[in-house]
Amino acid sequence: MIQEEKLLEIKHLHKDYGNGPVLKDVSLDVRKGEVVVLIGPSGCGKSTFLRCMNGLEDIQSGEIKLDGKIITDDKTKWSDVRQKIGMVFQSYELFPHMTVIDNIMLGPLKVQKREKNQVEKEAGQLLERVGLYDKKDSFPRQLSGGQKQRVAIVRALIMKPEILLFDEVTAALDPEMVREVLDVMLELAKSGSTMVIVTHEMQFARAVADRILFLDGGEIVESGTPEEFFVNPKTERAKRFLNTFTFEKKEG
Ligand code: ADP
Ligand code: MG
Repeated sequence: MIQEEKLLEIKHLHKDYGNGPVLKDVSLDVRKGEVVVLIGPSGCGKSTFLRCMNGLEDIQSGEIKLDGKIITDDKTKWSDVRQKIGMVFQSYELFPHMTVIDNIMLGPLKVQKREKNQVEKEAGQLLERVGLYDKKDSFPRQLSGGQKQRVAIVRALIMKPEILLFDEVTAALDPEMVREVLDVMLELAKSGSTMVIVTHEMQFARAVADRILFLDGGEIVESGTPEEFFVNPKTERAKRFLNTFTFEKKEG
């Protein structure tokens, strides 16, 4: 399902918050339909990398292209780019005073100025797809964490992004709710969505990824298929990192 066409091209990215380099010469191409999973120890730069991809952080040098067009120059309108690069965070940030469906319709109506009936229909279909149609008129406080996170995914999907970024979206959930969110992401992957996913769920990473990137100290240390990475990690750093997940590895 991965197409030849490069959707996102990141070249020689350097990022520094002012206390030394956080991303050091990071390059990555993502093809249409590809699922890239970024893993690595806490503080290695995973969130920063995703945030650079949709302009939430400025960069010191390097270049990012989306659909062949540079998006890291002065002419870039990030509000336009962010409609094409959707992001889902660990905290779902739904508006508490709005119902589920109103939270979902806000972007398409206010930002994209789309027609209400059509948007409402799509919102219903997407809620159906993640198993939450019956919650459309509920308020966020009436939902579990896993349900809220699925709504947050729908809110990103309804903008029809070309690529979706996920930053540890199950990290704050109770264990019994992790699965329902990962299942939605697996379904998205199967249906051909292009995604870059940061996760610590190793079995999920192995199942969903076309490619695993292992990041350590702001550098891409390894890049390969899930099999290559999980069965035969090339570097000591990756081996050491994977050893902290021994329980999960035995299970799988
Ligand atoms: P990860 O997501 O892999 O845990 P982050 O991208 O959040 O890592 O952080 C990478 C490094 O950048 C860390 O050393 C972190 O302290 C630093 N960092 C992240 N955000 C900021 C910020 N807004 N200002 C200064 N330093 C930051
Ligand atoms: Mg992070």
